[in-house]
Amino acid sequence: MEIEIRLGIQTDLLLHLLPRSGSDRSPLPPVRPPRDRFILQSSNPNPKGNFEFLKKGFIIYRMTGEQVENGRDDMLIDGLEPKQNHNVEISEAFNSNYLRTYYAKLFPYADMFKWMSYGNDGRHPGCDQSYFGRREFSFTLENEIYLRFQSFNSIAELEKAIKEKCPFKIDIGAVYSVEPAKREAYSQADGFKPVERELIFDIDISDYDDVRFCCSGANVCPKCWPLMTVAIKVIDTALRDDFGFNHILWVYSGRRGVHCWVCDGKARRLNNEQRAAIADYLHVYKGNENSQKKVSLMGPLHPLLARSYTEVLKDFFEDKFLYSQELFSDEERYEKILEMIPEESVTSELRGKWLDNKRSRDDINIARWGLVKQQLLSGKHKALGIRRCVEEIVFSFTYPRLDMGVSKHMNHLLKAPFCVHPKTGHVCIPIDPNHCEEFDPSTVPTLSTLLEELNRGGLRSEGEDELENTSLGKSIRYFRSSFLRPLLKSCKEEIESFYAAKTQQTKNSLSW
Ligand SMILES: [Zn+2]
Repeated sequence: MEIEIRLGIQTDLLLHLLPRSGSDRSPLPPVRPPRDRFILQSSNPNPKGNFEFLKKGFIIYRMTGEQVENGRDDMLIDGLEPKQNHNVEISEAFNSNYLRTYYAKLFPYADMFKWMSYGNDGRHPGCDQSYFGRREFSFTLENEIYLRFQSFNSIAELEKAIKEKCPFKIDIGAVYSVEPAKREAYSQADGFKPVERELIFDIDISDYDDVRFCCSGANVCPKCWPLMTVAIKVIDTALRDDFGFNHILWVYSGRRGVHCWVCDGKARRLNNEQRAAIADYLHVYKGNENSQKKVSLMGPLHPLLARSYTEVLKDFFEDKFLYSQELFSDEERYEKILEMIPEESVTSELRGKWLDNKRSRDDINIARWGLVKQQLLSGKHKALGIRRCVEEIVFSFTYPRLDMGVSKHMNHLLKAPFCVHPKTGHVCIPIDPNHCEEFDPSTVPTLSTLLEELNRGGLRSEGEDELENTSLGKSIRYFRSSFLRPLLKSCKEEIESFYAAKTQQTKNSLSW
């Protein structure tokens, strides 16, 4: 039996309808609908034990084994149904004892605390000492329990909780107006609301299933991973050049995609409408599996698109993707492309020519794409729409596909960097956007290799040095030198200038 419950408007009602154990039919305690939508799912024929409402304010649910093991990157994404995956094995590279050792010896607590404090842990009078404590963390535990609204007032509290609970997944949420753990005291008066949050992006290879023929679902290989590389290049450039953001962290999600954290102060303070506007700006791909034409380009190309096309997408499509996916190798594949060309005379002419030059010495994909371009760009077609088909096809195959819900709402959760994916054992390490084509998911350090390294190295030293000596060393050094250090420098300057402005204001108002 499968039970799916959306904790929403009908929450109280639905929960009362759930049977408890045979003798105990008393209704479950009512629960206030949370702010986010959840999917609650149970594969247990008797749902007792799958739902628990511990302590006041803790909403806990148990997920199916598959969900936990998949580490579901998109667990809380609005509107997405959990996909069924019947492969329930946990990777050999992962187990809870390994994870415990990882949290005991390697997890970079100090770096995470520094990052999440954004300079507010300093001694400057402008520092907001409550800042870190107002951040939501959420844990997905081994026994399928999911805890939201955890908050910690110090690095010691955070470290203690992680070591004790040994979460299979740690998610980071927004900074709220009050400590998430104490939100019960405030919610009546609506005093509990998100006030800051990194601008985040989630790009998942499984959203490209209609344009990759090597893999599907959560699987990735060297032929399709470059779609993620291209996405990083396009989005990173747009965020820096078009919006002026500087403090951007890209992270491997551990299995099938990448996450992006934009951490500039002005990004963290964006409201939901502004986030939506940025996400919409970046969201050219609007199709779904049922609409053949994924992209429709009207008028002159937007500068973002023109730049993405000439600097990244065109070359990637023509030099790599055409071959690696063999886009024109059989009828099913090339018909997909022909369907994007609205002019019947063009498509039938192309089919005829392809039949003629079957024996071309060139690679069939290159030859056929060459003919597509020749046909569409020839002087015969005056209509811009037809000439634009070349670009539309390239965009349809390669333009980044963002999960819009993640970016638009401040209270969305995103998996913390340096978590370990239970399915792959991979550590969610940062990716340097300047060298993203060198990133190979198959060589990402796994939990088991890290522990081997620890064992080999003996108990040389405790803490951070030990981390640097493992194969995670390169990642942590990149995180510190290219992301954290410049970020904290900006935060310090910002705190000082805000404080100076505030002091000046106070002086001015006193002098009146
Ligand atoms: Zn693949």
